[in-house]
Amino acid sequence: MRLIFKEFDIGEGENQMGMSYRATQDSVGFVRMIRRFINGLGNRCQCCICGRSFLRFSKYRGGWQAVSSYLRELKWTGSDFDNFWCPFCRSHDRERHLMLYFKALGMWEHFAGAAVLHIAPEKHISRAIESCSPASYVRGDLIPSREQVRKLDVMNLIEKSESYDFVICNHVLEHVPDDSKALSEIFRVLKKGGSAVLQTPYAAALHSTRENDPSVTTEAERLKFYGQEDHVRLYGIDLFERIRNAGFILHLHEHSKLLAGVDCARAGVNAAEPLFLAIKPER
Ligand SMILES: [Zn+2]
Repeated sequence: MRLIFKEFDIGEGENQMGMSYRATQDSVGFVRMIRRFINGLGNRCQCCICGRSFLRFSKYRGGWQAVSSYLRELKWTGSDFDNFWCPFCRSHDRERHLMLYFKALGMWEHFAGAAVLHIAPEKHISRAIESCSPASYVRGDLIPSREQVRKLDVMNLIEKSESYDFVICNHVLEHVPDDSKALSEIFRVLKKGGSAVLQTPYAAALHSTRENDPSVTTEAERLKFYGQEDHVRLYGIDLFERIRNAGFILHLHEHSKLLAGVDCARAGVNAAEPLFLAIKPER
């Protein structure tokens, strides 16, 4: 999966595959620095990762307003583009949401002594898992960007079968050419009773996944119809069936139930994004 991040107005930080980038124009950097300073004032919002309070989270690439009308009409669900970056620790909404979901389910305690595979690992979640003292913690990416991350293709894992208690695969499947192969590989390496976290953006009003569309070939078309230049499909609600077809029991934990006490605007997370927790059956 080749990642396409060039000179977009995206500032400085990490993209969703954990790769770092830097804004290339000084003027853009200066404006962003001022904006980040202003966002850091006040206490209307609070980041669950660094604990800092501030005025607002930064938008991702212009926020929801910049998302195509096609995707908005199809109720595209994933990140909260209006409340994305923390101005202090630069965590993004997907990391914060997982942190909150994991806490609500008591998963942090379960990571202690467990074997964990983290695909395209996010910086803050990585540190948090490490601090839980897992028995083993393997971080992998197709294009490793940090020393601790090994090269790993989710469609062809070199790991032994039934060797992990947890696999975390956060916003990866939408980039993967053969997602059924990736899901079967994740299923294979999980121990019986193990859990996979499979967060993936999808269009809630789209019945069947749009992919292999000959009319969607350019970066601009993929951005418009798939949501990002390096996405290979737009999942519809058949995404859930794809996960079940790989053998998993899928639990979709809704924010409104599991995190009922969390004010989304204050925490900078998307209330519409459920937790995808896929369990490998015991038998
Ligand atoms: Zn923060």
